[in-house]
Order: sequence, then structure tokens, then C-alpha cells
Amino acid sequence: MVSHLLPYLEKFEEELSRESYLHSSGQKDESESAKIYAEYPHLFSREHITEAFKKINTREGKLLYDAFVGNFMGNELKEVSDEMSSYESSAEIDFEGRKLAFRQASNVLVNEPLREKRKELYESLKPVKHKLTAYEKDLWEKCYALINQLSGKSYLDYVSFVKEVDYDAFAEELKEFLVKTDALHKSQLEKNMASVGVKLEDAMPYDYAFFARAKPFDEFFKKENLVPFAKAFWKGLGFDIDAQKNVVLDVTEREKKVPRAFCMPIKVPEEVILVIKPHGGQDDYQSFLHESGHTEHFANTNPKLSYELKHMGAHSVSETYAFLIEYLMADPLFLQNCLKLPKKAAKDFAEFIMETKLQAFRRYAAKIIYELKLHRTDLTRLDERFEKTSGKYNDASEMYVDILTKATKIKYQPEGYLLDVDGGMYSADYVRAWIFEAMLRKKLLEKFGKDWFQKKEAGDFLKGMWSWGSSGKSCEELAQMIGYGKLDISVLTKDFVDFFLGSMPHS
Ligand SMILES: [Zn+2]
Repeated sequence: MVSHLLPYLEKFEEELSRESYLHSSGQKDESESAKIYAEYPHLFSREHITEAFKKINTREGKLLYDAFVGNFMGNELKEVSDEMSSYESSAEIDFEGRKLAFRQASNVLVNEPLREKRKELYESLKPVKHKLTAYEKDLWEKCYALINQLSGKSYLDYVSFVKEVDYDAFAEELKEFLVKTDALHKSQLEKNMASVGVKLEDAMPYDYAFFARAKPFDEFFKKENLVPFAKAFWKGLGFDIDAQKNVVLDVTEREKKVPRAFCMPIKVPEEVILVIKPHGGQDDYQSFLHESGHTEHFANTNPKLSYELKHMGAHSVSETYAFLIEYLMADPLFLQNCLKLPKKAAKDFAEFIMETKLQAFRRYAAKIIYELKLHRTDLTRLDERFEKTSGKYNDASEMYVDILTKATKIKYQPEGYLLDVDGGMYSADYVRAWIFEAMLRKKLLEKFGKDWFQKKEAGDFLKGMWSWGSSGKSCEELAQMIGYGKLDISVLTKDFVDFFLGSMPHS
């Protein structure tokens, strides 16, 4: 039996998370996960996988099986992965006569008002991206082969089996959403790009990134106010971060700290780290709120749940809670009450967030459609409605550019065709979470009123849901628990449409 290995698995995964935290928070230059793998050689054998397979008829059993498969693969791929992240963290580019760390470039790019300079910086990133893509290519080839050897399944069949999601049926629903919201999206994008002086037909990823940085709103999102604001908001909902012994807030400035906020659940619920390098601006606030949602979910997980249910499984549940907190930024009342925005600014800013949310949702819907085709090496060309044609794409990068550009109306570039791929169909976890978040928010509004985010009773309601951890209940089971039948994309579609139009455009 493999259950006797659980204590070692727990220790191993804890050490791996800590290593990742230390590396990403800029406290350790090298990523040395290979060293940690070397300390636990007995965990990575094919026999354990065969043993674990016998118990896959229970939720814990299936999670454990997936963990053994995942760790076996991680062990096989550790050298390449380590080399890749060490390369990425040390990579530098030449920009305006100085050296710039690759990981800092996106921060510089979103803050650059001159289009020519944005373009120059974006172009200068390409050699590093090409090298990273070579690593990715190597990793994916090995990954496909390993999954097949270990499970007898193709990559997609394996992920679909473990996560219990029918990706093809899901992709059909998303295609419908993309078509339905296309006209609405186009008019928004035209307006958004015009606001930064760019015509829609010329819009490049670096232009959209600059727009999404939303400099005109900076006065409301000061660097020094971020942490005090977030703590005060959470306190209103009944969570005192300073008093939570299991939550560690890492706000220390370190040169090599990654610019995006992140949450590292080292041991759920006993040690959850929330990391940020505040730089100010709305995107900073948005990502910090998102990560704080993950943090409270993990920190409020019932400690008595099994290790598998606390630490393993699909991410759609946790992403739902992260989105729930993040998209408070699209609520004019939250903006006025908690961030002290004047009424007009709150309305404008909420509209901005909803527009970027629609863009992000469409981008991820397109990623799912693309990733399904990529993993199957299906190069059949798609038409404007994302339906199959008789034509073929020349290669995966052309397919990536075409599908992503159609959905986002931004000219995607071929360099991203592998770097923009989420392992384990994580993109679908996000999309499922966006759908469930709209459903959960609707319930909170019905139960606790418009200012639910300032009520301890709403916090208690969430605590009840959060106690189920990552995998105690699936999105579908949680949806049923709060009074729905199933995950229903129409709630999200209606959310967008009500916000922008009040009625559906006829397209
Ligand atoms: Zn997240």
C-alpha cells in the first residue's frame, strides 16, 4: 500500500513549496528542487503508481494516484525545470543602454507611455523567450511520453480523467460565449485602445498591457496604502490578518522578488504565506486581493481534513475564492466604501475592471480551445466562430496567433505559443472559477445585501465554504451546497450583459 508513504510525501511537498517560495520571493538565487527530490528517492517509483491506481475509486485515492504520477514526472523533469527557472531568473536584456532583469521587464513595459519604446522593449525580450520556449518544448515532449508510459492515456485523457472535466463539451459552451459577446467586446476594445492612442487594428499585446495598467487611476491606488487597506477590508469581513498565526505576510522589498503577488500554502492550514512587492497602481491592488483570497481559503481550511483534500486537486475551487475577492474591484460600492473612491471615479473604475475581466475571460476561453488542439496536434483551421474549416494551420504558433487574436482582438505574437500554455489545463480551472465566482457572488448579494463584503455574517458563510479546503467538495458540489443545480455559464454571461447593456446584443 502507498498510504504509509504519506508522511514522506507531506514532508517532501512542504520542502518543495518552501524552496519555491524562497526562490520566488528573492531570498535564494538558485532553484534547487533537484536536491529535495534526491532526499526522497523512495517516493518516485512506478510500483507506487501501480499500487495507487488500485484505489482510484475514492476521491482521496485518485488524488494520491495523481500525486504519485505528478511527482514521478517532476523527478524525471527536475533538471530541465531547475535549469529553466534559474535561466529565467538570471536572464537580462539590453534596454536603453542598460541591463534589465527579464523578470522586471513586464513592470517596465506596462509603465512605458511611449509606444515606440514599448515596442523596442517587447522586441528585446524575444531572444530570452525563444530560449525559454526551447526548454518548454523539451519539457512537453517528455511530459507527453511519460504520461503515456505511466497511465496508458494521452495527456488530455489523463488530465480529463483526474480532474473529471469534459473539456470538449466545455469548449463548446465557451465558443458560444465568445460569439455571443463578440460585438460587445469589439466596441469596448475600440474604446479602450483609443484611450491610449492606438487603433484597434494595430493593437499589440504591449499596448493592451499598458492600457490595463490604468495609470489614470493611480491616485486611488498608492503603494503605501495597499497593505493597510487590505487588512482593514479583511477585518470588516471578520478576518484579522495580524492576529492570524497561520498567515505570514511577506512585504519585504527584495531585488529579485517576482513582481506579481503570490500565495504559497506551505502547510494547509498551519502555514500560508502571502507575498507581495508593492509597486502601486490598480493591477497591484487587484493581484494582491486575488492572492489574499487564496490565502484566507487555505488558512480557513478544516485542519482535520485529510492531507489529500487539503493539498491536492483541481484549482478551480481556490481560484473561485481568489476571484471573488479580486473582483470586488468591479463593485462601485466596494470602491467607495473600502477604497474611498469618489462616486464618479468608482463607476468609471468598475467599468474598466469589467472590461478587462471580459477580455481576460475571452483570452482564457481561447486558450482552452487552443490548448486542446495543441495537445492533440490538431492543426485544423478555425473560422471566425471558432468552428472547424477544411483548411490547416502551418504550425502550432500560427494556430496560437490566430485563435488568441480572434478572441482578444489584440495581435498575439508567435513567441508565446508554448510559454502561454498552462500545465494540467489550468486555464480551464480559471474559466470554471470565473463561472462559479459569478454564481457565488450572486448568492452573497441575495443573502447579505449589497455591502456583503463588510459583514461578518458573510465572512462566516465563506468560512463554512472554505473549511472544505481544495478538494473536500468540488465546484459542482459547492454550487449544489449553496442552492444551484450545476456550474452555469449563463450566470456569468448575464453578469456581463447586465453590467454593460441590460440586454443582449443581436449578433
Ligand atoms: Zn489564483
